[in-house]
Amino acid sequence: MKANSLRELFVEELRDLYDAENQLIKALPKMAEGSSSPELREAFEEHLEQTRNHATRLEKIFAGLGEKPKAEKCKGMEGLVKEGSDLLKEDDFDPEVKDAAIIGAAQRVEHYEIAGYGTVRTFAELLAEDEAVSLLEETLEEEKETDQKLTELAEQINVVAQEGEDAGTEEGEASEQTARRSRTSTRRKSAA
Ligand code: FE
Repeated sequence: MKANSLRELFVEELRDLYDAENQLIKALPKMAEGSSSPELREAFEEHLEQTRNHATRLEKIFAGLGEKPKAEKCKGMEGLVKEGSDLLKEDDFDPEVKDAAIIGAAQRVEHYEIAGYGTVRTFAELLAEDEAVSLLEETLEEEKETDQKLTELAEQINVVAQEGEDAGTEEGEASEQTARRSRTSTRRKSAA
């Protein structure tokens, strides 16, 4: 990476994000396929559509800046995707436990993207690139919504994963109370 001005840094970061989105376009169908919960699978399929749109928005931004839509290898996303794909290869996980792990990997991805888009959005504001600001803002909101949706799914799936673990143990009853408590607090949260 070579950048001597904030504008150059902005373009470099956009190229990094463009590569990150393209990596995700390949990874998300595998994450959907590896998920047992139909809701989780659906969430990944929906996010795949959004992700294609994120790549298109970046292409629009490059065009607006008069820059070529070039991708620059995003090593951070490469690592996150690798962790996710290693997880998908595991075959001795209970389905709910595996789903809980997949959600964890996916939320790491979303947080990484939220950080990246937050940065470029701020750069675009400083550089008075208004079209880029609004396009980046739209993507940032979708990443945040996806993260929130994954949190909601985790609140259900993690409890089921925990119940599976309790089955047949002596502490089963006590842990069942814990699970009930967290279900109640999930309901309270969603009612709020
Ligand atoms: Fe994205």
